[in-house]
Amino acid sequence: MNSKKVITRIAPSPTGQMHIGTVRTALFNYIFAKQHGGTYFVRIEDTDRERNKEEWVDAIWRDFEWCGILPDKKYRQSEHIERHKELLASLVASGKAYLSKEPKKDDPSQTVEVVRLKNPGGVVTFSDLVRGDISVDTTDLGDFVIARSIDDPLYHFAVVVDDGDAGVTHVLRAEEHISNTPRQILILEALGFERPVYGHFPLILAPDRSKLSKRKHGASIENYRAQGFIPEALINYLAFLGWNPGTEEELFTLDELIERFSIDKLQKAGAIFDEVKMRWFNHEHLKKLSDQEFTERLVTFAGETPLPPYLGHILSLLRERSQTLGEALQALADGEFAFMEDNITYEPALLLKGAKVDAAAAKAHLQKVTEMLESIESTNFTAEGTKEVIFPYATEQGRSGVLWPMRVALSGKEKSPDPFTLCALLGKEKTLERIAQASRVL
Ligand code: GLU
Repeated sequence: MNSKKVITRIAPSPTGQMHIGTVRTALFNYIFAKQHGGTYFVRIEDTDRERNKEEWVDAIWRDFEWCGILPDKKYRQSEHIERHKELLASLVASGKAYLSKEPKKDDPSQTVEVVRLKNPGGVVTFSDLVRGDISVDTTDLGDFVIARSIDDPLYHFAVVVDDGDAGVTHVLRAEEHISNTPRQILILEALGFERPVYGHFPLILAPDRSKLSKRKHGASIENYRAQGFIPEALINYLAFLGWNPGTEEELFTLDELIERFSIDKLQKAGAIFDEVKMRWFNHEHLKKLSDQEFTERLVTFAGETPLPPYLGHILSLLRERSQTLGEALQALADGEFAFMEDNITYEPALLLKGAKVDAAAAKAHLQKVTEMLESIESTNFTAEGTKEVIFPYATEQGRSGVLWPMRVALSGKEKSPDPFTLCALLGKEKTLERIAQASRVL
């Protein structure tokens, strides 16, 4: 690598929701620039007027900001149209490109005047940071078209001009652009720009090895944000699509990735996207948040949906059980913690459903449980404190006969946390009240 200041870029086209692969490309460019004290910028390639939409431009800024991958500079390709035309004209003037009158492709009765590059032909070789030397014979490309007219340069031309003007030193992008590279090198040489270093990242594949798609696989940032993935986790997981540190370590912050990532360690083979693994990453990163941070994220995620007043009491339980913020919100909406509310009612049959004893026996057990719980000091009324007293009795008498009615008495639900966790969450007074209420029902 030469000693020039490193300049990298991501060049997304605003044609739809942001694909997670675009964020991975941005991430690797960002990290590479940071590692070399360089600059990383975003260029929105918005010159395809038919396919672009302003809302997708906004989505690009929003998504990068959400991910925390902030560029040093940002601009839009459309701001450079005059410059593209100027260099196109100069290429024609120098004889390296020429105007060519030809029948229009979709309507041969009309003629157009396109601009073709004088292709010297021969083998173009470039060394790719990920894939090593790549050689392509460009002779068959012939004098390829670089502009629809002298005023309307094509995409490859615009990219080369923009990268050249910005002094991009490293063009790091997805593998699907490998086939564009020889063509872009020929344009770049005609224009006299210095050739950047290229690096092409492996594709992200679905488990069936098809290309991971937004439509089929929901692979957009928006989709994962809406499910309650957090950016720290997404970034961490995306970095692992094609890279690993060569150790067992998996959890990395963005700063740690900057320290550890190495482009030489990128694999060539396609990287298989595994949503189960990504959920695991999300859970781990959620666990790293403080209670306050977790609550803030949940509040933001919930938006208009109100959160229950008892949230603080059940927070650790909720965090333990939720891999995403969406799951946490769903658990609250499903009433999984409704036992925290003041009034609960019982389905009488439910109190016995899993107990394997009759009502009289269940009632007798609840009576005994009450006596034992009464003997515990309020300050010791924890999950461990109550378990220590009740569990030996339950083991001796048959666990289901004792613990099932107790748990349903405390939660009113078929499914709930274990009875000792419930004791701790409800406190001594409420616990005893509920067991008495359930006994009456029995
Ligand atoms: N605009 C291209 C894309 O959306 C990127 C081109 C490049 O990185 O050179 O894939």
